[in-house]
Amino acid sequence: MLDSINCQPVKQPCDDDAMHPYFAILTPYTYRLLSEQFRSSANTVVADTGIVNSHEGQLVVGNEACCCRFYNTLRLPCRHILSLRQDKGLPVYDEALVPKRWKRSTWRQASIVHGRDTATATVSIMQSRTQVATVLSAARSISRNQQWQMK
Ligand SMILES: [Zn+2]
Repeated sequence: MLDSINCQPVKQPCDDDAMHPYFAILTPYTYRLLSEQFRSSANTVVADTGIVNSHEGQLVVGNEACCCRFYNTLRLPCRHILSLRQDKGLPVYDEALVPKRWKRSTWRQASIVHGRDTATATVSIMQSRTQVATVLSAARSISRNQQWQMK
């Protein structure tokens, strides 16, 4: 499922877009989520105290963390963090804000490792099935009489 989500085309940002560096490191799916938050950050007002009134209630926002649902679920910069950073003149882009699991590099590695593991697992399952089949057929070839004599 993740494969099909990540393969959907995403509009590449303009070079001067503050979000451009994120496009280079994030999976397309993650970048889409983050750009939506960035667009919404324009309409988000965070007080100097770091408090924001949202439909989720009163939220406490920091430069790198927030207590909103989006941040707590995905650990990606939400509209509140992005708004606060812009108000404070901090860069919108900071690689440290993005967990490894959302990066293209991690996704690529995971796909390769997963592919190899699947192949290895399949071979070992096939090998163990063959061994079981061999043992079973050997056991069947011994007649009941022979089994009796062996006791
Ligand atoms: Zn938030």
